[in-house]
Amino acid sequence: MQDELPSNSFDMLFAKARYAVALQDSDSKSLELSASGGAFALFARSVLRVGGAVFGASLLDNGTVRHICIKRIDDLYKLQGSKYVKSNVADTYEECAHLLCKNTVVLYSGTPCQIAGLRKYLEKSVPKEVVANNLLCVDLICHGTPKQEIFSAYLEWLATKNKADDGIHGYAFRSKKMGWGLNYYYYFYRRGRKHEVLGPARDDPYFAAFTKGVIYRRCCYKCPFARLERVGDITIGDYWGIDSVHPGFSDGRGVSAVLINTSNGERFFNECCADECKWIKSTVESVAANNSNLVKPASRSDDDERLADEVERAISAGDHKLAFEKLLAPKLSLMARIRRKLPWKLVRMVYGHGR
Ligand SMILES: Cc1cc2nc3c(=O)[nH]c(=O)nc-3n(C[C@H](O)[C@H](O)[C@H](O)COP(=O)(O)OP(=O)(O)OC[C@H]3O[C@@H](n4cnc5c(N)ncnc54)[C@H](O)[C@@H]3O)c2cc1C
Ligand code: SF4
Repeated sequence: MQDELPSNSFDMLFAKARYAVALQDSDSKSLELSASGGAFALFARSVLRVGGAVFGASLLDNGTVRHICIKRIDDLYKLQGSKYVKSNVADTYEECAHLLCKNTVVLYSGTPCQIAGLRKYLEKSVPKEVVANNLLCVDLICHGTPKQEIFSAYLEWLATKNKADDGIHGYAFRSKKMGWGLNYYYYFYRRGRKHEVLGPARDDPYFAAFTKGVIYRRCCYKCPFARLERVGDITIGDYWGIDSVHPGFSDGRGVSAVLINTSNGERFFNECCADECKWIKSTVESVAANNSNLVKPASRSDDDERLADEVERAISAGDHKLAFEKLLAPKLSLMARIRRKLPWKLVRMVYGHGR
C-alpha cells in the first residue's frame, strides 16, 4: 500500500461507530506498558484466556516492526505500546486464516489499512460464518506511518551519536516514566555501562517529525480510513481531552478512547471486558473533537513534502547526519537543551509525573 488506496473497493467493510467509551485497564502493570488506557491488552487477555490467538505489531530486536501472533498472556508485552512505524504484516493474514479455519478465536489488531487488507484476504479464503464467529478486528485511530527505512536509519544514527557498544535497546515511543503523553525512552551501553534516555517527542528529530505529520508514507495523506465509519469491530486510540469531557476520570496514567462499531464488538466488550476495567460511556463526537484523524487524513504543506523527500534522499545516500541533525533537527529551547544533558530520573523529578 505505497501510493493511493482506492476507497470504493473497501466500501463494504465500513461500519459506523455506534457509541464510544472512555476506558482504563484495572491491571496497573499492564497499563504501564500500554500507550493509552490499555484497551488493547484488556481485549487481548480475554481472547488468550479462552485459548485464542492475538495478532499485533512488535518491535523486534533488529529494530524492525512486524506483525506477530501470540498465544500466551506472558507474551502480550511484545505487542503492547505504539510503534510509530509501518508494521510489516508478513504472512500473518495467511496464519490468521489458518487459525480461523481450525475454529480458533482470533483477535487481529492493526492500522485500519491492515484490517481492511485482512478482511479482503479472508473474503476469498475463509467461509463468512467462520469469520463472523471467530474473528474480532481491532483497528487504531491512525494519523499515519513512516517507512521502516526511516526508522532503521534513525536507530543507527542514535547508536552512532551515543557511541553505543551494540545499538539502541528497549525503544518505546510512549514511555509512561513521565506520565501519559508523547515521551520516548531507550537505553544503550557505552563501554559496558548502561545509559537511559527519556524525553518529549518535540525534542527528538524522528518523533517530532512524526507528530507534526511530516514523514508519513504518501498514501497516509490520502487515507480513506480516516473517518467515523470503521473497518474494525472495535477502534482504539488515546482519549485526548478527557479532562474537559469527563472531569475526574483520568488519573494521569492513560485513558483509551474505544469506539464500538459492530454487534460483534459490542457483544465482546459487554461479555468479556467491561468488568476488568474502569470505564464510562462517552460519545463518538467527543472523541473525534480532539482526534482529527477520525474525521480526515493528516495533511502537510508543500515545504514539508519537499523536506520529507530530502530526508529520504539523505537516508538513501547513507547521510544520517544530514537527515537527523540538519533537515529534521528540532528547534530546541534553552530548557530543552538543559533537559537533554540531565539523567532521566532527574528529568522526571523536575518535570513531574502526569500531565
Ligand atoms: C502509527 C500509529 C498512529 C496512531 N495515531 C493515533 C491518533 O492519531 N490518535 C489516537 O488517538 N491514537 C493513535 N494511535 C493509537 C495509540 O497510539 C495507541 O496505540 C492506542 O490507543 C492503543 O493503546 P492501548 O493503550 O490500548 O494499547 P497498546 O498496548 O499501547 O497498543 C498496542 C496496539 O497497537 C498496535 N500497534 C502498535 N504499533 C503498531 C503499528 N506500527 N502498526 C499497527 N499496529 C500497531 C498493536 O498491534 C496493538 O494492537 C496510533 C497508533 C499507531 C501505531
Ligand atoms: S494513515 Fe491510513 S494508510 Fe496510513 S497507516 Fe494509517 S490507516 Fe494506513
